[in-house]
Order: sequence, then C-alpha cells, then structure tokens
Amino acid sequence: MSLQIRNLTKVYGQQYAVNNISFEVAAGEIVGFLGPNGAGKSTTMKIATCYLPPTEGEVLVGGHNVVDNAMEAKRITGYLPEHNPLYLDMYVHEYLGFIGKLYGLSGKTLRQQVAEMVERCGLTREQNKKIETLSKGYRQRVGLAQALIHNPKVLILDEPTSGLDPNQLVEIRKLIKDISRDKTVIFSTHIMQEVQALCNRVVVINRGNIVADDTVEHLLQTQQSNVVVVAEFEKGVTAEQLQQLPEVISVQSLDTFKFKVVAAAGVDIRPALFRFAADNNLSLIGLKQEESSLENIFHSLTAQSPVEHNQN
Ligand code: ADP
Repeated sequence: MSLQIRNLTKVYGQQYAVNNISFEVAAGEIVGFLGPNGAGKSTTMKIATCYLPPTEGEVLVGGHNVVDNAMEAKRITGYLPEHNPLYLDMYVHEYLGFIGKLYGLSGKTLRQQVAEMVERCGLTREQNKKIETLSKGYRQRVGLAQALIHNPKVLILDEPTSGLDPNQLVEIRKLIKDISRDKTVIFSTHIMQEVQALCNRVVVINRGNIVADDTVEHLLQTQQSNVVVVAEFEKGVTAEQLQQLPEVISVQSLDTFKFKVVAAAGVDIRPALFRFAADNNLSLIGLKQEESSLENIFHSLTAQSPVEHNQN
C-alpha cells in the first residue's frame, strides 16, 4: 500500500509550514524524510495520520483520502508521533492491550497481537513493568509496538531514534529494519547515518518545500555539496581567524587547533589555508578534504533558499 502526498499545503496563521509538496512512498519502500527543525516534517506526518487537516492538497494512504476516509486510512496506518507520548502509569502489557482495543481488536486476536508485538519489539522482560520505569530506548520500543499492534501496512515514524544513546540507536534501527519488511515506511530524522542504514530513498524538506527526492546513491553521485576540509595546526589559531578567509562558509572547532572548514561547492580551500599558515608563520600539520557525504549534501540542500520541487 502506498502513501501519496499531493500538492499538500498547511498554513498556521500566516506561516506556510508545508508549501505545496508532492511525493509518494511506494508499497514496500522505506523512505527517510529529512529536514532541519521546523522544516515541516511533523506537520506532514500529522496530516498523513489524520491528526491535522490540510489547508490544501490531499494525502492518500493505500488509496484512502485521509480527510474523506479517515477511518479506513487509520486502520492501515501505524504512527509513532514525535516525543512518543505514552501513558506512563500503565504497564507495558496493559498499554498495548488498551491500544489494540482502540483499533477494534479483542479476545484471542488481541492477546495474540500483544504477545507478538512484545516479542518482536524485544519487550518480553519489560512487559509487566510500568512504562514510567523504562529507559528511553525501551519506551521507544513500546512506542513502536503500539504503532504495530493492528498490523498496519503503512508505518509513519516521527523521529523514532531522537534522544537515544548510541547503543539504543543501533538497537532501534535494527528493530525498525526488521519490522519494516512487507510494510510501506516513512520516518523522519536528521541523522544521516540512519538514512544510509535504513533506506534507499530520501525526501528532503526545507522550510516547507521539497528540495530533494532521490535515492541515496544518486544523491551522492549527482549533488554538489559544500567542500569540507579538516585542517590541523600545531598551535595558535582560532576559528574566527579561519572564518575571515575568502570563500569560507563556516568553521567548526574539532579540537584546540583542529578545525572543520566548509567552503562552497567547487571551491578548493586548501591553497588558501596553506598560504594563511605560511603568511602567519604557523605549522600546518594536517590538511584533508573530506569525501562528499550525505551529511554535506544535506547541509548544502538545507542551507540554500528553497527551490521548487522537480516532479520528474
Ligand atoms: P519539523 O517537524 O520539520 O521540525 P514542524 O512540522 O513541526 O517541523 O513545523 C513546521 C513549521 O510550522 C515550524 O516553523 C513550526 O514552528 C510551525 N508550527 C508547527 N506546529 C504549529 C502550530 N500548531 N501552530 C503554529 N505553528 C506551528
């Protein structure tokens, strides 16, 4: 079952949170929905899950319009909202049963679904604990289990790994990968490794506009990204000094005298850094240009002003 977003616009007061966006997630696909904070990801997901009405345009889930056929759309959609709201004073088992009932499950089917989700989401040892006693990683598992309880065909996950520690991140990513087989999935994130680990297509949104809709592989091959150079000096340099060099966009301190220097696409900043060191009698002990990465591409795409989405 596919998810189709067609000319979707959402305006809050005067502000266009989502501005005439269109894209599709085909049946069985896992798509990463990327964008900086405030780009419009949650708004899009809330509309796709019937929590907010669109201002204009439409969303179809498995062919069901989320406004005209909300019940049908909800029946086949699993949703993990941002911040994963849970009833903290409920027991895991009890909570999953409660959500299952809301989806119309009962009797043996309900018991089986709860048992299966507890097992698939790695909650066997936690199922009789109160949710408030669980770590963030386990709460996230409960959030995923509730999203899956009615065996939905379409999964919409809003920042499913935000706030997790590195071990929890790996576990939840693996879980998402496992449960995503045979489902249509869209998840939002701003972590590039996550996109590379989980999906082959990305939709990038910036200030309410789609700025890229492509496979990860094709983006890496074709998108011009900012050039990133890591420069290390022996001593005596500040980020502010490097920031003054022509064509430098930004400088980030990695260590006392080690910096990540970003220049526009196509600019080789290394000779300028070398001359800066020579002119100031400084020892440059490291100078390495990074390969184009999805992260750099993301920064380039979301730093520039939004462009119209190319529908090709
Ligand atoms: P993201 O999920 O990408 O961080 P959101 O969809 O939450 O972005 O927000 C998009 C824009 O809409 C932001 O500028 C945000 O401040 C604004 N926004 C979101 N929800 C509301 C709301 N209920 N009322 C007014 N503005 C909102």
